[in-house]
Amino acid sequence: MGERGSMIQAGLPVIELAAPMLGEPEKQALAEVIDGRWLTMGDRVRRFEQAFAGLHEVEDAVAVNSGTAALQLSLAACDIGPGMEVLVPSMSFVATASVVVHVGATPVFVDVEGVDRPHMSIDDARRHITDRTRAIMIMHYGGYEMDVAAWRALADGHDLLLFEDAAHVAGLVGPGAVSDAAAFSFFTNKNMTTAEGGMVVMRDAERRQRARLLRTHGMTANTLDRTRGRAVGYDVVECGHNFRMDELRGALGLVQVERLAGWNKARRELVAHYRAELGRGAPEIVVPFDPAHRTSGHIMPVLLPEGCNRAKVMAEMRAEGVQTSVHFPAIHQFEYYRRSCGETSLPNTERFSDRQLTLPLHPALDTSDVERVVAALCRAVGVAV
Ligand SMILES: *Cc1c(COP(=O)(O)O)cnc(C)c1O
Repeated sequence: MGERGSMIQAGLPVIELAAPMLGEPEKQALAEVIDGRWLTMGDRVRRFEQAFAGLHEVEDAVAVNSGTAALQLSLAACDIGPGMEVLVPSMSFVATASVVVHVGATPVFVDVEGVDRPHMSIDDARRHITDRTRAIMIMHYGGYEMDVAAWRALADGHDLLLFEDAAHVAGLVGPGAVSDAAAFSFFTNKNMTTAEGGMVVMRDAERRQRARLLRTHGMTANTLDRTRGRAVGYDVVECGHNFRMDELRGALGLVQVERLAGWNKARRELVAHYRAELGRGAPEIVVPFDPAHRTSGHIMPVLLPEGCNRAKVMAEMRAEGVQTSVHFPAIHQFEYYRRSCGETSLPNTERFSDRQLTLPLHPALDTSDVERVVAALCRAVGVAV
């Protein structure tokens, strides 16, 4: 396949946690950009936006240079700012909360539904709504789709905006359909990659236009317009950012978006195989979410038995050539957030975060890799309990 890593551990190829799917089409696409000598914000970025929007059955999309920029731009284009509180899950990557701080608002952490359902809890969210709450940010943990309609109803009932951190669900139709904005990431370990990159999907055309403006310094005309003689000067009508995507990434994105559906299907098949193997060989390991829950197959999270030494499990598995990780350390327990948001207690998030382990999952794996991972996990847990 030419897309597998070639590290060797204990005489066997290392099973990587995640792996970008890159090959000849990506090399060719990059070479064409280099030969064309137009390097940023050109036709490829625009075509990538349209292809991405098409795949997700939304009207249009705005490409940016990271998933974090996509999140921040979503908030900024909807006027989230100082004095406002935004409900966020603590069970997420830190960017879900840091972008709220960056726009001058305050993140308020919400617990998850339970250890076997690490989605932000709608009941706990309701308890955290105050007269300063202005928005809710949900995150489709691990690729498992959240019930966006239920969140929309909660948001509407309190006159709040609804945002989606869609970093884990590229390729799923749904994000951006009923929320105010959905932000995707194309970081190296996501379901499709542009190395670094992100995309904002917004229903409202005016806000989308505002996002385009804020993406590039609040300037009324871009370099391409000026070079092509469509504009001479420009004005600055907002204090914006440089969140632009470049043509190299646009070219990668155009190739990757075509292959995404096939990769996600392969991921889901591997998840089903994991569930079957774990159910048979390791019934003490909990796999979160119902097997029928709709997912992009982004990661393969499991819960280790209570009291199990996770560091030891990870070290044992590493010695057998299997990479693992933790998704995620709870954000509210990080030093910065304890200091700036105060001590918060989120019991389900803490329990989940303490026991969670992420197993390798990417489309270049096959069923025998899954069996090797499960066997290594069983041996490691046997040693570590
Ligand atoms: C990866 C990720 C992000 C950030 O995306 P970047 O492209 O790395 O900036 C945000 N939220 C979640 C949940 C993520 O997994």
